[in-house]
Amino acid sequence: MDLKEKIRAIPDFPEKGISYKDITTLLKDKEALKATIDMFTDLSKDLKVDLVVGPEARGFIFGTALAYNLHAGFIPIRKPGKLPHAKLTQDYELEYGKDSLEIHEDSIQPGQRVLIIDDLLATGGTLLSTANLIEQLEGEVVGIMTLIELTELKGRDKLDKYKVESLVSYP
Ligand code: IMP
Repeated sequence: MDLKEKIRAIPDFPEKGISYKDITTLLKDKEALKATIDMFTDLSKDLKVDLVVGPEARGFIFGTALAYNLHAGFIPIRKPGKLPHAKLTQDYELEYGKDSLEIHEDSIQPGQRVLIIDDLLATGGTLLSTANLIEQLEGEVVGIMTLIELTELKGRDKLDKYKVESLVSYP
């Protein structure tokens, strides 16, 4: 199935000059949703994954379905102030300003094999911060997967020490 056909590009959202990749059109299509999760599952079934980690919010959508298929656990990475228990925080740079991500510090045991999944790889800041959090907890990042990759932003270069897979790419 051509997943790109199912993704809607919205010009000038959230600001002028940005072509926003809207995945809601893919998610509502039962065949496209199934094909997406099946592809992620095929790509990761031999990685012996203990835990799938997904950043808020779209990483949750693919992450839990994939964790179910791999018979792995799921860990949410959240924006600041959302997690209720003891947590680690990682700051990262945005084009304009800064943001942070958090993980519960008891969510990963040393040596556990962790797969990261999100909807979209742009500059790679979100996924690199996620990998850093996992490594601070001594988890082993065995792969990073996204539905979409915006290749011109070269996020893959920032993640060059990891195995990175994307299903659909745009320049
Ligand atoms: P990065 O940190 O620059 O790689 O940006 C990736 C994050 O931004 C992901 O968590 C995406 O959900 C979000 N994002 C960036 N651009 C888009 C887009 O065009 N559509 C949907 N999400 C986007």
